Amino acid sequence: MTIYFDHNATTMVKPEVLQAVQDVYAFPANPSSIHEYGRNARRLVEEARQKVAKSVGMKTIGDTAVRVFFTSTGTEANNMVMQATPLYASKIIAATEHASIFQSADEQVEVLPVDSQGIVRLRALEGLLQKAAKPCLVSVMLANNETGVIQPMKEIVALAHEYDAVVHTDAVQAYGKINIDLAELGVDAMTVSAHKCGGLQGAAALIAKKHVRIQPFMQGGGQELGIRPGTENVAAIVGFGKVAEKINESIKAMAETVTLRDKIENAVRAHSDKVMVFGQHSPRLPNTACVSMPGVKSETQLMHFDMHKIAVSAGSACSSGKVTASHVLHAMVGDNAEVACAIRISLGTGSTTEEVDQFLQCWQELYQRTHVATEVRKAA
Ligand code: PLP
Repeated sequence: MTIYFDHNATTMVKPEVLQAVQDVYAFPANPSSIHEYGRNARRLVEEARQKVAKSVGMKTIGDTAVRVFFTSTGTEANNMVMQATPLYASKIIAATEHASIFQSADEQVEVLPVDSQGIVRLRALEGLLQKAAKPCLVSVMLANNETGVIQPMKEIVALAHEYDAVVHTDAVQAYGKINIDLAELGVDAMTVSAHKCGGLQGAAALIAKKHVRIQPFMQGGGQELGIRPGTENVAAIVGFGKVAEKINESIKAMAETVTLRDKIENAVRAHSDKVMVFGQHSPRLPNTACVSMPGVKSETQLMHFDMHKIAVSAGSACSSGKVTASHVLHAMVGDNAEVACAIRISLGTGSTTEEVDQFLQCWQELYQRTHVATEVRKAA
């Protein structure tokens, strides 16, 4: 079996999710129908909505000023925020955002720089907020998909709110890996996605306080309060509810992957002081390591690991199988040659020490082959 170290790309569906999904498919399920099957489907969707709300620290959504809109993907929810909000006079996003924020923002968007450890520069944020036209929307991800770097969200929110800006956070990678409390973070809107945490692809959510301005970019149905029209993907949403129900277990199990991640990082760094661990000194997700192998291109490494039946990735996997220079790493360290030599290892709750040892052996083989060859060439 191939070792899977690419859990930030997607995860295996949890057995209890599969079971719940299968149960839904036993009956026709259109929540807009008023007959018994339809009413049952509506109940399932609303129960899942409550569970998702609860998984980010809300008690219920019935009595609060927060709404949960189901979408098909995190990409869609992020697009809803960036594209369907022409109601904002200005927008600010971080330089390390996922492509679904970065590429859906209009040209006038202001890009907030990060430091070499991937943390947004708060002074720069203040500068941008001071000159931003109101109302202003700020979108900064909670945890980065390539490096795992976690942003100081409470400070970002406090600053943005001083200037009356609305804050959205893309929490797709943080969800199920670290505790998320919407009220504690103070954000006005948040994106989460089920498939990064044992759910099905095809269910995600935009969670937004009522004052957040959102406009549908599709027309033709009243579902999700008209914000996201189209028949709901009931089975995937129910599966999402299951994921949400088990969120604390996921977070606890994920916390344990940090030992394996540290083992990887310490071992590769022991080979050379030129090996870079991106975002090493920042708070990070426990499962993510982004490391360079000096002088060996990411593609070469990916092929080597693939040949040895180990699945890792080069930066974001959401960009269609192509290895392109990472805008995230570039934003952190500029034109450093190590950017082209970075790979992302993202562990899962089932990852083992044996798998890590196999990975390290494979890494070392490639390192020695390429570096000994270089030394021989230099000596000749
Ligand atoms: N945001 C981040 C940080 C991600 O890592 C991803 C996917 O990798 C997305 C958004 C997009 O989510 P989805 O795959 O549900 O479209």
